[in-house]
Amino acid sequence: MIRAAALMALILVVAAGATAQPRCAPTPRDAEGPFYKAGAPRREATGRGFLVSGVVRSAATCQPIPGARVEWWQANPQGVYDDAHRGAQQADASGGYGFETNFPPPYAGRPSHIHMKAFAPGHRTLTTQLYPTAGQSRATFDLVLVKE
Ligand code: FE
Repeated sequence: MIRAAALMALILVVAAGATAQPRCAPTPRDAEGPFYKAGAPRREATGRGFLVSGVVRSAATCQPIPGARVEWWQANPQGVYDDAHRGAQQADASGGYGFETNFPPPYAGRPSHIHMKAFAPGHRTLTTQLYPTAGQSRATFDLVLVKE
């Protein structure tokens, strides 16, 4: 009986080790909404006063994905979607991205949000939204993609 317990303890230790591999929780998916347009130009900013930055990572390994494409689109200060508030970036060698924009006003009963997509070879395209809170001037938002 004692041996069985010891064996069970050993199995639990081994199982814990197996699940202790580095892994990042995938970024939750969120609605694309009606205003996405493909092909946004690369830019550093779509407004002033609110900074968004983060790292694109692979959920399987937690490793950054250099060169991943990040897109964002959001309402302008008047609460309207326009082409001046669509942008794209290529993640740097560390998987990092970052841009400045205006704080997105709430519209149509929805809380403030910035729509985002991330694309990387071998990974499912991520479509999500960032929800800044009033008074915030910067946000860190990692984009964690799952393998295809
Ligand atoms: Fe929206």
